[in-house]
Amino acid sequence: MPEEKPERFDTLKIHAGYDPKEHNYASSVPIYQTAAFGFGDSDRAARLVNFKEKGFSYSRVSNPTVAVLEKRIADLDGGADAVAVGSGMAAVSYTILNLTEGGGRIAAAANIYGASFDEFRTLFPKYGIYFDFIDDINDWNQVESAIKEDTKAIFVESVTNPATTVADIAALAQLAHRHGIPLVVDNTFPTPCLFNPIRYGADLVVYSSTKGISGHGEVISGLIVDAGNFDFGNGRFKQFEEKEFILGNEEEHMQRSFVEAFGNKAFAARLRLKYLRLFGAVLGPFEAYLVLLGIETLSERLDKQVASAKKIAEFLTANPHVRTVQYSGLPDHPQHELVKKYFPRGVGAIFAFDMDGTEEQTKKVLDSVKIFSYLPNVGDVRSLIVNPCRTTHREIPSAYRRRGGLSDTVIRLSIGLEDADDLIADLDQAIRTAFA
Ligand code: PLP
Repeated sequence: MPEEKPERFDTLKIHAGYDPKEHNYASSVPIYQTAAFGFGDSDRAARLVNFKEKGFSYSRVSNPTVAVLEKRIADLDGGADAVAVGSGMAAVSYTILNLTEGGGRIAAAANIYGASFDEFRTLFPKYGIYFDFIDDINDWNQVESAIKEDTKAIFVESVTNPATTVADIAALAQLAHRHGIPLVVDNTFPTPCLFNPIRYGADLVVYSSTKGISGHGEVISGLIVDAGNFDFGNGRFKQFEEKEFILGNEEEHMQRSFVEAFGNKAFAARLRLKYLRLFGAVLGPFEAYLVLLGIETLSERLDKQVASAKKIAEFLTANPHVRTVQYSGLPDHPQHELVKKYFPRGVGAIFAFDMDGTEEQTKKVLDSVKIFSYLPNVGDVRSLIVNPCRTTHREIPSAYRRRGGLSDTVIRLSIGLEDADDLIADLDQAIRTAFA
């Protein structure tokens, strides 16, 4: 018998998690637009609710269309299980809550997405969950000193927004595991196509699939992938080891913990049964279908977008009005070696640049572009432009922004699928207008 080779990314992105035989041989994943599913008979109902038979009963907990998306992202990332939720922020929030329930701390990179930072800094502390922010996530002394007795995880973005700083995930995973805690990676910017955090030791991966994964700027959605490698029964996470009424069976006087009931899938199972089922930020089947459709062309989109981004970054580097281009994909970037190690296919199509000018001139560029859309999103087939400090990153106090090298005049670009030369011409005329 020839040895069966695991399928590669481009095959998985089209087929993983979907068996047409189970869906009337439909070639495209059907949209199960239904709130509930019949139990069939009372014996089957008993088996379903006691987890003795797999199946669907209510779409707040699971739905066949959403389940295909969950299996597909788990397979693309090499994880054991995944949960889809209503937004990237729901993915971040539920992951943190599932880790820190009852109180605790998270050691987190300071240069993360504005809403995550705002939530960590101003909202979670009201629930007894505290954050130790790290200015340079690749400085092991800073990371070590942020880990305290009740720290439950390290949280980092693989590629930051908008400066595209890259985290050394393998080293961070080793450090986290030495302290008996998991590494959580927000991998939204590179998507699983450009980077696989689990391969380098990450335990949990979160996504805003609103961005490059779906790729068309039409659906708010989030994903959490559980690598299935971290032992949540290690004594640091009592919520995973306590006996749960819902996992028991009153008739048989039996109760189990999430670790006992779900083994290496305990994190994803608990997130689904506690947070999705009880807090309820569920992803609808139609939205899951749109994300699945986007994933089918993920590699093709990103390959072109990365190539165009490099070309545009080179044009900007040579422009006399541009002071800096913040893009770790450029060969003279200080992190170039790290980028080569982790991102052989490119670090992404989102980056920032700063001009030798005033904030008025930044505004003039935004108001003069004709092809770029001025809006607060990234990872679209349309090219996007924004002034982060006045919009997407407004939630981050200026002291943190400055420490992260983000000035008030910086402009972020997200490169789409238009012709790269047209995009360059558009930026060229907008910059010339601003400096006329
Ligand atoms: N994480 C990152 C890195 C993001 O850029 C975003 C949104 O921009 C989010 C999380 C939140 O995602 P959503 O807007 O889907 O809630």
